[in-house]
Amino acid sequence: MKLFDKKNIDFGMILTQHGLSKTSFRKILIELFYTKKYSLSVDEIITNLSFPIDKVSVYRALNAFEKNGLIHKVPDMANLIRYALCQSECSFEKHLHNHAHLLCSNCNETYCINDFKIPVVNECKGFIIDNLKIILEGSCVDCQQSYK
Ligand SMILES: [Zn+2]
Ligand SMILES: [Zn+2]
Ligand SMILES: [Zn+2]
Repeated sequence: MKLFDKKNIDFGMILTQHGLSKTSFRKILIELFYTKKYSLSVDEIITNLSFPIDKVSVYRALNAFEKNGLIHKVPDMANLIRYALCQSECSFEKHLHNHAHLLCSNCNETYCINDFKIPVVNECKGFIIDNLKIILEGSCVDCQQSYK
């Protein structure tokens, strides 16, 4: 898993590159995604912020981020809406990510496996495929540690 050095990242620039206006809340929100290692639900975002904010504002910012190729929805054990950062292949024009996800059945964390690419399947037995998900379930490294 990649951890980022916050000092070297211009979060305003990331927003601009994705066609988003630089509001102070959006900057804080994108920084949160870079600071947290994995994925975030709306409730986790609100818990991590040092100021009160209503859910509607958070959803609105997340929808803009998703629409412009910054983040994507990831599968979640509890069927919560949960997001993770996209890699550089996605832009404000199009999402091009096609990776699998790991789900920890102990802590409910979702991890992107960016080097596990899903094959392109457009049609199968007459079905037109418009969404393909591969989910691997198990125990994450942190949870394996806590069993010992
Ligand atoms: Zn994407
Ligand atoms: Zn875990
Ligand atoms: Zn992902």
